[in-house]
Amino acid sequence: MSDIIQLLPDHVANQIAAGEVVQRPASVVKELLENAIDAGASDIKLILKEAGKTLVQVIDNGMGMSTTDARLSFERHATSKIRTAEDLFQLSTKGFRGEALASIAAIAHVELKTKRDEDELGTQIVIEGSAVKSQEVVVTPKGTSVAVKNLFFNIPARRNFLKSNTVELRHVTDEFHRVALAHPNIGFSMFHNGSELFSLNQSNYRQRVVNIFGSKTNEKLVPVEETTEVLKVSGFVGKPEFSKKTKSEQFFFVNNRFVKSPYLNHAINAAFEGLLKDGYHPSYFLNLSVNPQTIDINIHPTKTEIKFDDEHTLYAILRSSVKHSLGQFNIAPVLDFDS
Ligand code: ADP
Ligand code: MG
Repeated sequence: MSDIIQLLPDHVANQIAAGEVVQRPASVVKELLENAIDAGASDIKLILKEAGKTLVQVIDNGMGMSTTDARLSFERHATSKIRTAEDLFQLSTKGFRGEALASIAAIAHVELKTKRDEDELGTQIVIEGSAVKSQEVVVTPKGTSVAVKNLFFNIPARRNFLKSNTVELRHVTDEFHRVALAHPNIGFSMFHNGSELFSLNQSNYRQRVVNIFGSKTNEKLVPVEETTEVLKVSGFVGKPEFSKKTKSEQFFFVNNRFVKSPYLNHAINAAFEGLLKDGYHPSYFLNLSVNPQTIDINIHPTKTEIKFDDEHTLYAILRSSVKHSLGQFNIAPVLDFDS
């Protein structure tokens, strides 16, 4: 018998990678918003139809791409953000894997328009299921627009797996909030089926939290600031009396990236010990700044998990800094809240 191993064609490899990167419209939203941030945009617009199932479009005023780069951006492992494996530990960008656009283009209809400041004209590329349909010179403003239509058009099993528009829009909104909270210095807007759901001007962190969660939030925020040799903690926790029955206002960022860390979330919750009624959860909006060399973010393609060199120290500092902030606002444990 002859040899039987074959290299998979690119469009198949891309579709497999897409399975990990793109679960639902919210995953596309995350990847496109992060690309806009990495491009240095100061203003980012998110446009959706049917909770993103038929359209997710992100328009930014960032650096744009040359014609050659526009085409290359859809290749797998094509990235402008790292050059060597060592760069993984010096990351200052959201992206580095070079697979988001290739993955998305494998399972949707994608229309990219982009122009750099120094170019007179821009480039438009249309790709469907990894196949380039057209590439043209177009008049377009500086920056990039990526429109992703008909997600999972060629994977019925995935399309059928999507939840109702209400549920999918909630996932999209969560993702939008996470990115917008991590970057208060960038203006964001979000439109769904023609109506504007959020308009967030460039602001500071407190204003951004209030703009997203409502003006009543302002009085409940307790600032947390702590700088040590290994890390900087900054942001806000909610006063205990404003705690919620859900965990919907718990945001934990590391180097401005939303991450899920049950262990460190526990540290924050531990700081609230004795302050909350049973079944209530604290609100927090906290960012941890650490030396990129002490973390590994390349655990999973979605980059929401992270490995720390010294988790125990981070736990202790986080817990004590939140506790200290609560103490400064004269919030000490009491046994009976209603008295
Ligand atoms: P990664 O972000 O990991 O590099 P992507 O597939 O998301 O991989 O993007 C590939 C490349 O395309 C990026 O490295 C970047 O050079 C370019 N790119 C993508 N989106 C934009 C954008 N909105 N503006 C400018 N360049 C972009
Ligand atoms: Mg990217």
